[in-house]
Amino acid sequence: MAVRDYYEILEVSKNASSEEIKRSFRRLAKKYHPDLNPNDSEAEKKFKEVNEAYEVLSDEEKRARYDRYGHAGVNQQGTDFGGFGDIFDDLFDIFGGGFSRGFNNRQRGPQRGSDIRYDITLEFREAVFGVNKQISVTRMEECTNCDGTGAKPGTTKTTCPKCKGVGELRYNQQTPFGRMVRVMPCDECNGTGEIIKEKCDHCNGTGKEQKSKKITINIPAGVDDGNVITLRGEGNIGEKNAPRGDLYVYIRVKEDPLFKREGNNLYVTVPITFTQATLGAEIEIPTLEGNVSYSLPEGTKSNSTFRLKNKGVPYVRGTGRGDLFFTVEIVIPTNLNDKQKKMLIDMSKEFGEQYKAPNKKRFFDKVKDVFH
Ligand SMILES: [Zn+2]
Ligand SMILES: [Zn+2]
Repeated sequence: MAVRDYYEILEVSKNASSEEIKRSFRRLAKKYHPDLNPNDSEAEKKFKEVNEAYEVLSDEEKRARYDRYGHAGVNQQGTDFGGFGDIFDDLFDIFGGGFSRGFNNRQRGPQRGSDIRYDITLEFREAVFGVNKQISVTRMEECTNCDGTGAKPGTTKTTCPKCKGVGELRYNQQTPFGRMVRVMPCDECNGTGEIIKEKCDHCNGTGKEQKSKKITINIPAGVDDGNVITLRGEGNIGEKNAPRGDLYVYIRVKEDPLFKREGNNLYVTVPITFTQATLGAEIEIPTLEGNVSYSLPEGTKSNSTFRLKNKGVPYVRGTGRGDLFFTVEIVIPTNLNDKQKKMLIDMSKEFGEQYKAPNKKRFFDKVKDVFH
């Protein structure tokens, strides 16, 4: 099946602004929303198409890739960011609180498989530089014994007599607004349209069984604690002819002993000596890719912060990286020998200070006072 052009789906021109795209998406999503078009599979298809197109065209980087390479440029294993992301936020906007995550909660048609949540903890650097992770997910798959039919191997299913194989029952209802047709899933066959005479004893007629599946996730560089990666169609198997659910991978990131991360910027504290601060110096700054040298200016105050551009964390969306900020902290020397002390006292005199050594006895008296 050929995939339609995303611009065509959203009814905008190739050079539409992001505002135009958003407006058009909202209009179309509302027009085709399943809650407003009950029992209309054409509308449902359009709704999904519109969502898919918007997912790509609303993201600058994905849009650029799409413009360059077409659908192939944006179809990498269905990975997309922000989890229950922008689309659903947008729809919440439109439909208020009543709308619950898409089209899988409706009471008709073959049920889409349910979603799975998987929690993964990454090392700090794995999150920064990206990593491939193999995970093992327990999910519902087709029963191997009956190939998902639910019928005992060798037996066949029959057409449901109640709904004549349609899977739905229609009731006419008189309401204050006139006659309405209510469509319900057939309770006899659970909406499948078929009756199993002899159930598969492996899956008890459900056609499904739990299996463990290994999945490799490409975690892109720059993900952060709290991000969610969506793997479309990697959730539980659905009813016959319905899509699988999705797999949501929730990301936790361990802290680094050296670097603090905020968004795409990194922060680190660098100890310097009194001499380096006073005279200025060439100092080594740790970065994620090893030390780089930096020319500290003369007369640097303690707790001054400097910036190394593009030494932060890569942006997941788009290109480039954040910055690295380092704060210098002057370390006061301790345990000086007599020669060193004398030099400092000489220097103090040179500065015109009236240097007086602390009275040690008085100092210890004070300590005593504190403890009594
Ligand atoms: Zn079975
Ligand atoms: Zn039925």
